[in-house]
Amino acid sequence: MKKDRIHLFDTTLRDGQQTPGIDFSVEDKIAIAAMLDEFGLDYVEGGYPGANPTDTAFFARKRTGRAKFVAFGMTKRAGVSASNDPGLAALLGSSSDAICLVAKSWDYHVRVALGCTNEENLESIAESVKAVVASGRESMVDCEHFFDGYKANPAYALACATTAFSAGARWVVLCDTNGGTQPQEIREIVQAVIAAGVPGENLGIHAHNDTGQAVANSLAAVEAGVRQIQGTLNGIGERCGNANLVTLIPTLALKEAYNERFEIGIDTDDLTGLTKLAHTFDELLNRSPDQQAPYVGASAFATKAGIHASALLKDPRTYEHVTPESVGNLRKVMVSDQGGKANFINALKLRGISVRKDDPKLDRLIQIVKEREATGYAYEGADASFALLAYRTLGSVPDFFHVESFRVMVERRYDANGQIKTVSEAVVKLIVDGETMMSVAEGHGPVNALDLALRKDLGKYQAEIADLELADYKVRILNGGTEAITRVLIESADASGARWWTVGVSDNIIDASFQALMDSIVYKLLKNRGEAGRAAAE
Ligand SMILES: [Zn+2]
Repeated sequence: MKKDRIHLFDTTLRDGQQTPGIDFSVEDKIAIAAMLDEFGLDYVEGGYPGANPTDTAFFARKRTGRAKFVAFGMTKRAGVSASNDPGLAALLGSSSDAICLVAKSWDYHVRVALGCTNEENLESIAESVKAVVASGRESMVDCEHFFDGYKANPAYALACATTAFSAGARWVVLCDTNGGTQPQEIREIVQAVIAAGVPGENLGIHAHNDTGQAVANSLAAVEAGVRQIQGTLNGIGERCGNANLVTLIPTLALKEAYNERFEIGIDTDDLTGLTKLAHTFDELLNRSPDQQAPYVGASAFATKAGIHASALLKDPRTYEHVTPESVGNLRKVMVSDQGGKANFINALKLRGISVRKDDPKLDRLIQIVKEREATGYAYEGADASFALLAYRTLGSVPDFFHVESFRVMVERRYDANGQIKTVSEAVVKLIVDGETMMSVAEGHGPVNALDLALRKDLGKYQAEIADLELADYKVRILNGGTEAITRVLIESADASGARWWTVGVSDNIIDASFQALMDSIVYKLLKNRGEAGRAAAE
């Protein structure tokens, strides 16, 4: 039997950005789009070109390879022609493969928000879709408030959907914008849309999570015939979030109820990158991953010691609904690290480090990582620090240089004009090849001063780190109160385009930063020698 293809549409960069406290830079957007593209999403929606400088810059060129790159914007205003609408012009001028137009489909919103007649709104939908189609792009229409609109005025909501489809929209996306619709209602209303003449293979679902059912509503829509699902990474989004693609994807791929009838663009091999995708995204947002997140949470496959644990080891299927390996997660059993070992060997292999299962150095490495993670280190988000630790434990890392001491001073005082001034200065004393050097630097804040002083004079290695740049710096306080532990993550980059993350943990933010800075420099020196990413263990 031929399986129906479900198309996955990511709106992390557009609807996800509505999450309180989240604001993506162009660099963030480029990095996230690349992650989504690599993972195998069919559509990556990037934002509103023309509406703000970030999105306009982001749409200056196409940011995906495989995935279709989607621009989002309004249908043309009533009273102007499609060719004279500046919003539509910005969309048509963007480097996008597809354009998603948002249209009102609830007559109340047409009257109150748009201030035009129902007929004018239908005309705007039709003319805007035609303009997108004429530009050679794939056209889709997000019918905003569709389900609430349908309940208020079914004939008009259906007219919006059929108008978009007749005008040439590849996809008509039904949006539960307020997020309060129940699965049964979703099923019935989707069936009504199909009966009105829009085939399921042209319908999409965009669900919000206000009753905790965005995933269930998306699946209900698929069962009713919809073939495109919109959602976000880790379910971020306005209020309670959007449908969580990180939950939906493995459900569609691994559950018989779906994988016997449907296929998605992500194969079982790609699926093993799911946990890493979810966690890397959280790191980028500088927030702790949800421990209880379905499939990818640290607790998703954890079992406490006791009879469950020993039964689990004998036959994992007795206690797991899918295997943790299938989504790249780890089985956690407190009585034994057997599960952990295989995962460690895999993690090392990914970094080009091969080690025998019975090598006692491997046990040592696992023990060190566990101890460090218990004190706040997070190696999942700090690949380079993990690689360094593995090289050091399994093989060796040259002593390029040694930091004898450092001192950081922050002075806050009034300047001659009576203005408050804060000055940060760092002094670093280090030894290279038996020679002691001392560097002093002033910076914007103590960490910047320390970084500048540390990289000011590395003796014979100085030229090698000339292209090393700090790309990002994230601080997280791990537990509140006066005994708070600080975790610092630093992203570095160099002229080759490579980027790597390092981590430091301390009860002192400067010390934590220092550790992460040191790891970054040593990693860079190893990288220059072609040793990073190569086997360090014999
Ligand atoms: Zn939305």
